[in-house]
Amino acid sequence: MESSCDDSCVSIISDKGEVLYNKKETLADVIKSGGVQPNLATVHHLATIPILVQDALSKTNSKLDGEDIKMICVTRGPGMPTCLTASYQFAKGLAVANPKLKFVGVHHMLGHLLTSSMEFPELLEKPFLSLLVSGGHTQLVLTENITKHTILIDMEGQKAVGDSLDKCARLLKFKGDMIAKEMELFIQSQNLPLDDPKYFKELARASNPFTKPLAKGENVYAKKFCFSGLDSQLRSHINKKVIKVDELTDFEKAEWAYRIQHVHFQHIMDKIKLQFAETPELEKLPLVISGGVSANMYLRGYCERQLNNKMYYPKHLHLCTDNSVMIGWAGLKMYEKTKLVNTMNSTVISKWPLSDLMTVDGAVKDKTPL
Ligand code: AMP
Ligand code: ZN
Repeated sequence: MESSCDDSCVSIISDKGEVLYNKKETLADVIKSGGVQPNLATVHHLATIPILVQDALSKTNSKLDGEDIKMICVTRGPGMPTCLTASYQFAKGLAVANPKLKFVGVHHMLGHLLTSSMEFPELLEKPFLSLLVSGGHTQLVLTENITKHTILIDMEGQKAVGDSLDKCARLLKFKGDMIAKEMELFIQSQNLPLDDPKYFKELARASNPFTKPLAKGENVYAKKFCFSGLDSQLRSHINKKVIKVDELTDFEKAEWAYRIQHVHFQHIMDKIKLQFAETPELEKLPLVISGGVSANMYLRGYCERQLNNKMYYPKHLHLCTDNSVMIGWAGLKMYEKTKLVNTMNSTVISKWPLSDLMTVDGAVKDKTPL
């Protein structure tokens, strides 16, 4: 189960990672356009999660008895406290009613980070890097093993790359639920001749008025991701009529969308390269790109071209964004490694850095391990 933000997600997976049931119900765009409202999202989860669990059990003809289904994994954090609690408490109730069920609270970002290992289990055998790019996070993480993670580059402020791309897409008057995804699809639909080096140089550099964050003076050496100024730059160009959104042809609109999207990815790349200049051995590690923005084909291609690491991405695009398959998988892998289950007095953790994965309370060794 996953309900850390505005998606209510329920899945059933096998111990090999086969997906037997997977459903997500997202709050409507009209509510999201002003940002996610925790109260509305919580009511959405309270109303939706139990129905999805009923549906999952009936469609897969399974029972939550500790034998048919052996484990219940639920996001414990980070995320909006009341949203998390909606599922966490429901999962606890199911575990109380079915004492044989293993109850496992899962770190949301660990879910994103391990998604690719469902398809490429070799990832779990050695250290790897992850670029976590989502609506709420932008981080470069070093995973030494499933329980030990170091955040190498964190984001400054509240705005993550996905959030910033969504805000830019809205300013350019794109519409839709995953609005940054709609912007990417629109760019693709206009077939910009990006393979032509002269055109690309003109588009991305010469005629690009957007400046990369943390790219001047001492800030060049700041190992941080920062997306707080990009939508303001776009807004300012729109207000000054440099960009007349309503008068653009589709092709011109795709060019503006490409420029602003590219600056986001350039900034990410600059900071990864800064890290690699400091610790070149990291370039030899596999690099997993995960989180909603990892669905973006321009980001994938850009990383492939610019970096030497072997790249991994979730194969299925719907596993890039928030989902509960990743929570089930991460919960299972953590349990296999640690044999820890969560106690009935444990509660959600709204702020929970991955580096503190193992230092929180509310977990004990399972008395009857699988
Ligand atoms: P998450 O927080 O992991 O659920 O990811 C959601 C974020 O990913 C939202 O900000 C989306 O707009 C963004 N996103 C999803 N698909 C794409 C895409 N193809 N390109 C860029 N951003 C995307
Ligand atoms: Zn997420």
